[in-house]
Amino acid sequence: MTTIVAIANQKGGVAKTTTTVSLGAALADLDASVLVVDLDPQGCLTFSLGHDPDQLQVSVHDVLLGEEEIADALLTTDDGVTLLPATIDLAGAEALLLMRPGREYALKRALADVAQDYDVILIDCPPSLGVLTLNGLTAAGSVMVPLQCETLAHRGVGQLLRTVTEVQQITNPDLQLLGAIATLYDARTTHSRDVLADVADRYDLSVINPPIPRTVRFAEASASGVSVLRGRKNKGAIAYRELAQNLWNHWTKGAELTAFDVEL
Ligand code: ADP
Ligand code: MG
Repeated sequence: MTTIVAIANQKGGVAKTTTTVSLGAALADLDASVLVVDLDPQGCLTFSLGHDPDQLQVSVHDVLLGEEEIADALLTTDDGVTLLPATIDLAGAEALLLMRPGREYALKRALADVAQDYDVILIDCPPSLGVLTLNGLTAAGSVMVPLQCETLAHRGVGQLLRTVTEVQQITNPDLQLLGAIATLYDARTTHSRDVLADVADRYDLSVINPPIPRTVRFAEASASGVSVLRGRKNKGAIAYRELAQNLWNHWTKGAELTAFDVEL
């Protein structure tokens, strides 16, 4: 069984891409075979995994439009995950897909051809609730929502959760809301925890353990073309490994997901 997870939040800068890279690499280190999908025309996931979007001939854009086979677009990476890359072409896919029937199903159809080769597929959604994110949510079995633990983090969460509900009603009745991932978390003050408690309470959203601490290593990693897990030991990498283990136990052993207790 392949577990397909969309990582979505229409807010930019909440660590969707960082989570996709780091969690993907951590799952690969647990011996999972992992495919990561870049659904953002900015191509940050592609770049973070050591590929220059400007140099690619084939990308997720061609696959979504049915012009190339998905197998011909896949790339290997130094982090042990397979990548379906994005280029700036994807910015035009939105408009091109809009004119097609079944436009929300393009990614689901494409992934069906290779899904059996992977234990886990992580989909890095763009910072909007447009047709690309709808493709991600339609192709996935579950969705995780990275939340940056700062004031106003809740803004937009309601809209995202309404979109999830609409996808459940229309294109993907089986879509499961797995929970939030607390990112850029600062354990030294109570602020991060207060923000999480507020969001969890407002939207009845559980936070998957553990929170991911803020560390400068992430900025260095995204410029280097390999994940933070490959660099010197640091608390961000440790947190993503713990998150990967938590999810892996849930997916492979049916263990209950450990939630982060925001009220402590
Ligand atoms: P998104 O994909 O949601 O737009 P990114 O993953 O690109 O967000 O992250 C936005 C910025 O925050 C990047 O510069 C990234 O390096 C940085 N970042 C992400 N996670 C952390 C963290 N835990 N600590 C410090 N910086 C982080
Ligand atoms: Mg991103």
